[in-house]
Amino acid sequence: MTIDAADLKRMFDTIAVAIEADRDRLCQLDGVIGDADHGIAMALGFNAVRDALAPLDLASIEPTALLNTAAKSFLNAVGASSGPLYATAFMRAAAAAKGKATLAEADFITLFQAMAQGIKDRGKAEPGEKTMVDAWQPAAEAAAAANLAGKNLAQSLEAALAAAGRGAEATKDMIAAKGRSSRLGERSLGHVDPGAASAVTVIGAIRDSVGP
Ligand code: ADP
Ligand code: MG
Ligand code: MG
Repeated sequence: MTIDAADLKRMFDTIAVAIEADRDRLCQLDGVIGDADHGIAMALGFNAVRDALAPLDLASIEPTALLNTAAKSFLNAVGASSGPLYATAFMRAAAAAKGKATLAEADFITLFQAMAQGIKDRGKAEPGEKTMVDAWQPAAEAAAAANLAGKNLAQSLEAALAAAGRGAEATKDMIAAKGRSSRLGERSLGHVDPGAASAVTVIGAIRDSVGP
């Protein structure tokens, strides 16, 4: 299968719905080790993306332009740390899609990896520091490995989702070293990182929108 601008718009719409449904849980998780706004921030961001993409002429816009629009609207809507992190992810996705009218399955895997790398670069977080990187990086690695092993896109994203889930769960045993919750030091132990939890929701929505 190939992915075009209309598919990407559908993907963002699916993420917005999933994040909206998860909003209260994400705020609760952030309330334990942060400032309780993560669900609000993510919902604001993805609702802004949905509004920005709604008027686009999908027959003429290229994936790269759509992804840059998503990046800008997310950044403008979100004041919390997740704003620039996801905006960078979408900007890197736009760069990965540049010059392509449609994305082949392997292109989409590359785009997915570029998103994870963008988050890592922007936040300067390494795995083990109890951030969304602990979900995004293993997800990107699992997607790439599955693709390399000959799996199709739906199967590769399924592997990514499973890896993200394990990664998010593993943040319980980590001490926060980046972001607001790092101020808690050892008191952050025992709690899932909200950004890692929302990454699982985002990746799950990507899987749902792409795969059968
Ligand atoms: P804020 O902390 O500004 O209120 P959010 O609540 O929206 O922002 O997001 C918090 C999440 O952002 C954290 O749970 C963590 O996953 C992620 N995060 C914070 N700082 C970084 C960073 N430097 N690198 C990667 N992720 C980060
Ligand atoms: Mg917060
Ligand atoms: Mg905040």
